[in-house]
Amino acid sequence: MKIGVVGCGFVGSASAYACLMQGVGREIILVDHFEKLAKAQAQDIMHAAPFSHPIKIKAGSYEDLAGSSVVMIAAGVNQKPGETRLDLLKRNADIFATIIPEILKYAGEAVLVVATNPVDIMTQITIDIAHKTHNYPAERIIGSGTILDTARFRALLGQHLNVSSHSVHANVLGEHGDSEVLHWSGARIGTISLEDFAAQSKALVTESIKKQIDHAVRHAAYSIIEGKGATWYGIGAGMAKIARAIIDDEHAMITCSSSLHAYEDLPQTAFSLPRIICANGIEDTLHPHLSTEETADLRQSAEILKSSYDEILAS
Ligand code: NAD
Repeated sequence: MKIGVVGCGFVGSASAYACLMQGVGREIILVDHFEKLAKAQAQDIMHAAPFSHPIKIKAGSYEDLAGSSVVMIAAGVNQKPGETRLDLLKRNADIFATIIPEILKYAGEAVLVVATNPVDIMTQITIDIAHKTHNYPAERIIGSGTILDTARFRALLGQHLNVSSHSVHANVLGEHGDSEVLHWSGARIGTISLEDFAAQSKALVTESIKKQIDHAVRHAAYSIIEGKGATWYGIGAGMAKIARAIIDDEHAMITCSSSLHAYEDLPQTAFSLPRIICANGIEDTLHPHLSTEETADLRQSAEILKSSYDEILAS
C-alpha cells in the first residue's frame, strides 16, 4: 500500500515519520516543490526504518504517486510580514489549484487527506477543485480538521482526571481554529459519563476547570508556536491515524473535516464532525447529541468558515 505526501516541510515529514513508526503502509513517496528537501527528508526518515518498520521511503514526482491509496497534502506557504490572512489564503489556494489536478492525474484512486491551514477552507477548496471540477468522489476528500484538537482535548482531560487519554472519549467539532466546539456534554470516560466519573474519582470537573481545559485546547497551537515556531508531532500522528484507517479499511470513528454533513440548516462548507473512515474515505457522518449551547456554537463555527470561504471567492 502506497502513501504519497505532497509538501514535505515540518508537517509532511512528521506525517511520513509517524507512518513509519506506526507501520502504516508499505511505501511512502515524498513530493515537494524543493526536490532537495524531499530527498533529504526521505533519506533521514529512511534511516529510522531499521528501528521501526521495513517501509520503503523515497522522494519522487507526481508520476510516482501512481497507485497510492492515500495522498497527504501539507504543501503551503507561511505568512509574510505585513501579509493579510486573506492574502495568505489566496496564495495557498493558488498552490492547490496547481497541485490537486497533478495529484488526480496520477493518483486517481487515492483518498486525499488535507492538513494545510486553514484546513477547513483548504479542504473546501480541494472539494471544489477535485469534486466539482474533476468529478472526484467527495467522500475521498478529507481534511484533518479537528483530529488534532480532539487529541488535545483527550490528552488534557485524561491528564486532569489521571486516566489514560485512550480511555477518554471526547470530541472537538466545527472549525480547526478559534471557533471550535468542545463537545463537553458528550464526553465519556470508557462508557461512564464525565459527571459520574468525576463524582467517583478525586478529580473535580467544575465550570472553572472546563474553562481552563477549553482555553488550553483552543490556544494550544498559539502556545506551541510561541515556543518552537510551528507544530508538527501531534498533526503528524493524526495524519498517520487517518492513513491507517483508510489503508486497513478500519471503519474507525474520527473527527475530521468534510462538507458531507447532511445538516440541512447549516452552511454547505467543510467542518469537522465524527465520521466513519474506511478504504473509500468517508463512509458515514455522525450527528452527536449536542446541548442547546453547543448547537448554537457549532452553527456559529460553520457560519464563520462559510463567510471566510465566501471572502476568498469574492476576492
Ligand atoms: P513548511 O513550510 O515546513 O512546509 C510546507 C512545504 O510545502 C514546504 O516544504 C514547501 O516547499 C512545500 N510547498 C510549497 N508549495 C508547494 C507546491 N506548489 N508543491 C509542492 N510543495 C510545495 O510548513 P509546515 O509547518 O509543514 O506546515 C504545512 C501546513 O500545515 C501549513 O499550512 C500549516 O499551517 C499546516 N498545519 C496544519 C495543522 C493541522 O492540524 N491541520 C497543524 C500544523 C500545521
